[in-house]
Amino acid sequence: MTPALPFDPLARAAETEAVVMQGIQRKYHQFRASHHYGGIVTADAVGCPFLCAYCWNYQRNESPERFGEYYTAETVVEKLMSIAHRKGIRLFRISGAEPVLGPASFDHLLQVIPAGRFIIETNGLVLGARPDLAERLGGLNVAVRISIKGWDGPSFERISGAKREFFNYPLNALKTLREAGVEAWPAVMGNLFGTEGTRCIAELMEDMGIRTHIETEYLERYPGVVSTMRQRGWEIGAGM
Ligand code: SF4
Repeated sequence: MTPALPFDPLARAAETEAVVMQGIQRKYHQFRASHHYGGIVTADAVGCPFLCAYCWNYQRNESPERFGEYYTAETVVEKLMSIAHRKGIRLFRISGAEPVLGPASFDHLLQVIPAGRFIIETNGLVLGARPDLAERLGGLNVAVRISIKGWDGPSFERISGAKREFFNYPLNALKTLREAGVEAWPAVMGNLFGTEGTRCIAELMEDMGIRTHIETEYLERYPGVVSTMRQRGWEIGAGM
């Protein structure tokens, strides 16, 4: 499933969902406790419409047909709850992939959320294209962190591999979610955005009437990340 860059990410989302969903079951490759957010039980899935230069799960998201096993939402909840009891953690997430690829993966997510307080980590593409799905998160025990992949069309294309005309979708998702009363905020990669890129996102949010903080994360140099970044034209200096 390696696409030529840049690709249509909505078409890729539909293709990916057809691979990683089998009825109501979704593909996952591991379940674990992680130190993020002060401790969170994590189900690592496969399948994403983007192919970000810095994705730590790049190979699995490039070729989801080769990785992971199918699990029902009930089995996922059982595994998450078992880890939660052992570790004394009450916060949950799906990571390593995009939880919302289309209606089937969205319904699967809704069945996993009752495990407890849930952080939905998303790139916001499909939630931006499908405001009806974003609105259905209103009133649930969730918070949504939208990872913003660029500060304009060209930077979005270079980071995500997706065509630049889809740049606005994640910000549209952020607006819809917040209007639906969902706690939602954007996160940017500080090494790539810098002060200027972050300022561009802040201005776009202001123009759209979105008032919330911007989280800044920093690059984790997993094996393969640096070489993929270089292939995309991002030079990783010592300060990055
Ligand atoms: S959006 Fe996240 S999971 Fe998807 S390719 Fe980018 S970094 Fe990986």
